[in-house]
Amino acid sequence: MSAQAEQTLVICGHGMVAQRLLEKLVVQPQRPFERIVVFNGEASPAYNRIQLSALLAGDANEDSLQLQQPDWYRHNNITVNQGDPVTAINREDRTVTTASGQTQRYTSLVLATGSRSASLGLEGESLEGVMGFRDLKDTRQLIQTSQRHRRAVVIGGGFLGLEAAEGLRSRGMAVTVLHRGSHLLNRQLDETGGALLEQALTERGLSIRTQTSPVALIGRNLVRAVQLDDETLISTDLVVIAAGITPNTELAREAGLDCERAIRVNPQLQTSDPQIFALGECCQLENQTFGLVEPGYQQADVLAQVLCHSDSQAAFAPSTIPTRLKISGIPIFSCGQTDADAETESVIWQDYDTNRYCRLLIRDQRLTGAVLFGETSDGPWYNERIQQADDISPYRAHLAFGKHYCEAA
Ligand SMILES: Cc1cc2nc3c(=O)[nH]c(=O)nc-3n(C[C@H](O)[C@H](O)[C@H](O)COP(=O)(O)OP(=O)(O)OC[C@H]3O[C@@H](n4cnc5c(N)ncnc54)[C@H](O)[C@@H]3O)c2cc1C
Repeated sequence: MSAQAEQTLVICGHGMVAQRLLEKLVVQPQRPFERIVVFNGEASPAYNRIQLSALLAGDANEDSLQLQQPDWYRHNNITVNQGDPVTAINREDRTVTTASGQTQRYTSLVLATGSRSASLGLEGESLEGVMGFRDLKDTRQLIQTSQRHRRAVVIGGGFLGLEAAEGLRSRGMAVTVLHRGSHLLNRQLDETGGALLEQALTERGLSIRTQTSPVALIGRNLVRAVQLDDETLISTDLVVIAAGITPNTELAREAGLDCERAIRVNPQLQTSDPQIFALGECCQLENQTFGLVEPGYQQADVLAQVLCHSDSQAAFAPSTIPTRLKISGIPIFSCGQTDADAETESVIWQDYDTNRYCRLLIRDQRLTGAVLFGETSDGPWYNERIQQADDISPYRAHLAFGKHYCEAA
């Protein structure tokens, strides 16, 4: 058993949210832990996962993704074990065991195990050349494949799939995107926004097929083709599955923690075991799970307070988080509601020449959603109106023209 200190915080997973928690913990005036020990499944220290899209597109390099220099961990007395995932939690002894055989005692344990690319359960998914787009290892492999091969199919027309497709295209591959929904980014854009996006991506050279699903991936060892539900066969050398994420809950389940789609927590991020906490993409609050970094950062703020102050009243409350597509030259902003229902009115503004589009959704004179395509600089201002539930009636006529017009009104 490794050296043990009286009060040890163990963190399982070293992704973006665990790193934010560490940064919040080290600035707390009182820390009830003598030691912080981190175990990570990946070989690299925490990095900016969001920027993997830029790395794939050739717009960033690996060094620029690093979140902290190695000195920072030493300076803050944090022990990080890279490439040594936790394989078991013993709740009775309050220890974790890792793949390399280390056993570490904890006073409190934080699970920040994130998620992985969801499997589609397709025949042929285990063939060589079929992969997800989740971590640095995947990204390096995608870059290498783009240097050796020419054709790729990306399954999923959400943010991740489109960023993967555009990255591979910019590296010279002929890319087909398969999307089950009626339009691209159907969770973030309305139909018009989706059609404008499809047009912009098609003009760049992507081949896009909506309302279609793959039924099998075909090949002997290497993937060679994707078969669609209408019998079409698309020849390919690479298949990227970017159709959702699955929270990493196995460790928690095996330890008997209450899990549903993810690890269940209360607003203080406590699991069904009061000594164990979970946050980021691996946690579930009521019926909500999280696939963006911002809620994870908010959870890290709360958990740092909870861990350092036994009487803390800090509590995490999910809020509407705006999303942006990270494909250069195609600005998209989406926040809140995207499609009208019976109680919602829409204000729509479209410039056909410049392909700018704005749709604002309003209920009871309150903004409930904003979809912006082409020009997104007012996105944060619309988001503020949504968060604050402001009465927009004094400037409703100017709303589609953005902050400056509304403030002048
Ligand atoms: C290409 C890409 C682009 C993205 N773009 C955006 C974006 O623009 N905006 C946005 O908000 N979000 C984006 N996301 C999502 C965002 O990256 C995640 O929401 C965020 O990283 C979640 O952080 P996390 O710490 O919960 O999990 P992760 O960052 O996934 O980290 C979890 C870590 O835990 C490790 N782990 C798992 N099991 C164990 C174990 N048993 N023991 C030890 N370690 C373990 C994993 O190896 C991993 O390193 C993107 C994701 C990807 C992949």
